[in-house]
Amino acid sequence: MNNYSENLPIKSSKRLQIIDITDKINRFINNSDVTNGIAIIFSKHSTSSIIINENEKGLLNDFEKILTKIVPDKNSYEHDIIDNNADSHLRSMILGSSETIPIKNNKLDLGTWQSVFFIEFDGPRNRNIELIAIGT
Ligand code: ZN
Repeated sequence: MNNYSENLPIKSSKRLQIIDITDKINRFINNSDVTNGIAIIFSKHSTSSIIINENEKGLLNDFEKILTKIVPDKNSYEHDIIDNNADSHLRSMILGSSETIPIKNNKLDLGTWQSVFFIEFDGPRNRNIELIAIGT
């Protein structure tokens, strides 16, 4: 059983930004000795998320719109008294901060239309994503 981990730095440029990190994860797995196993993608922040979905421009715009409707920017949030980013935390809570994905033949075993995204909710800033590959 092999176990590899790597820190993936990400620099966001907008407050809310969807960044496709699929290629970067596949590069990490390629450099590991894991042919078959699982990959864990974990964002070490409470105002960002990791999700899997289709990288289609219209869909990603739809996603931003619906998310802003579900969690509005301003809503008399209690946490805004502390550091004015309650919307970012709440969006992150709803979407979660990690994904576990099968590794097959030394790459992510995603569906045809699936990509892995890092979602920034409180940018721009520097972020750190933990990549872990476990397997044989
Ligand atoms: Zn906060």
